[in-house]
Amino acid sequence: MDEHANTPPFHVKQPAASTVSEVEEGRSAASAPAPAPPAEHPADDSPSQGQSSGEAAPAATDPFDFDTPLARELADLTARRRALEGVDVTLSGRTRVMTVSNQKGGVGKTTTTVNTAAALASVGARVLVIDLDPQGNASTALGVPHTADTPSVYDVLIDDFPISDIIQVSPESPNLLCAPSTIHLAGAEIELVSQVAREHRLRTALEEYLAAHGDQLDFVLIDCPPSLGLLTINAFVAAHEVFIPIQCEYYALEGLSQLLGTVRMIQKHLNPGLCVSTILLTMYDGRTNLAQQVAQEVREHFPHEVMRTVIPRSVRVSEAPSFGQTVIAYDGNSAGGIAYREAAVEIIQRGERAAIDEEGAR
Ligand code: ATP
Ligand code: MG
Repeated sequence: MDEHANTPPFHVKQPAASTVSEVEEGRSAASAPAPAPPAEHPADDSPSQGQSSGEAAPAATDPFDFDTPLARELADLTARRRALEGVDVTLSGRTRVMTVSNQKGGVGKTTTTVNTAAALASVGARVLVIDLDPQGNASTALGVPHTADTPSVYDVLIDDFPISDIIQVSPESPNLLCAPSTIHLAGAEIELVSQVAREHRLRTALEEYLAAHGDQLDFVLIDCPPSLGLLTINAFVAAHEVFIPIQCEYYALEGLSQLLGTVRMIQKHLNPGLCVSTILLTMYDGRTNLAQQVAQEVREHFPHEVMRTVIPRSVRVSEAPSFGQTVIAYDGNSAGGIAYREAAVEIIQRGERAAIDEEGAR
């Protein structure tokens, strides 16, 4: 946010940044002294920074001692924010269709879909989010109406509506489109069973849409429900890439083999072009050994797929949907906002590299 750019110079007589909200908003960091090396782990702007939420932290014992973990985090956030301001991305001109999937519930699929989409839009990409979850959380976060009478993905899957008839533009950006979900989608899983070409219905609709509008879109991100039912299978058949968010918690890898097994089955029978291109570690809390161990284990198993960027557990990220916003609009300079902006840049750059490799292999 612009207010951050105009942060007044840090007054040397003040103690190091002292409140949680200052950390959250990146305040006081703009001219933190002697930029410390980037923190090993992404900053966490949750209210449990060793302080209780909303309370002022105790003043540093030595007001001139800026080498505190908090000051280092602030300096790290500032450096990363500045790096993002200078970043220059090149979009490939083709439309990448990514399905954000993990049958485990609550791992950050929707949060990752909407925030990555908004971050991509903020660097100039044109993005369509398809909300394939009857809960409609992605539609809520993107600020688009999705009451029961709204034309939705249900109408596309069951009644052959063209996608162009249901698309809404998010109030957040003209680059950010949403095909909303409504509660009717809850019944679609069962209704699809008796439909012709039941696994291909989203793909057919999306191909039709992209044939007419593909040159206007850089990314399609599909937010899946927490199951491996027909809705998720439709997403796998429609997509080129699987994007898996993994929560840095104890059961992170449990169920992953089932997910990968389903992907293999889809590759074999329904969509040979599908690949698991991207794994993103979410809700990372660098202060716990557990999160570090989970992250290490996932990286060992999937050295090429796991992104460098890690999403920290962040109060701002969890607050944003209650304002009908993504964290990019709500507080793009918070630790969570910066991490999702970095993730978007990394996704674009990884795509560029993959395209170059493909070109070279020909
Ligand atoms: P479901 O399986 O129900 O669709 P999901 O995988 O889409 O869930 P989300 O809804 O994105 O998961 O996230 C689950 C909860 O975790 C939400 O309350 C969300 O606000 C919170 N959350 C997600 N990412 C973060 C984060 N980085 N920091 C803090 N809270 C987060
Ligand atoms: Mg969800």
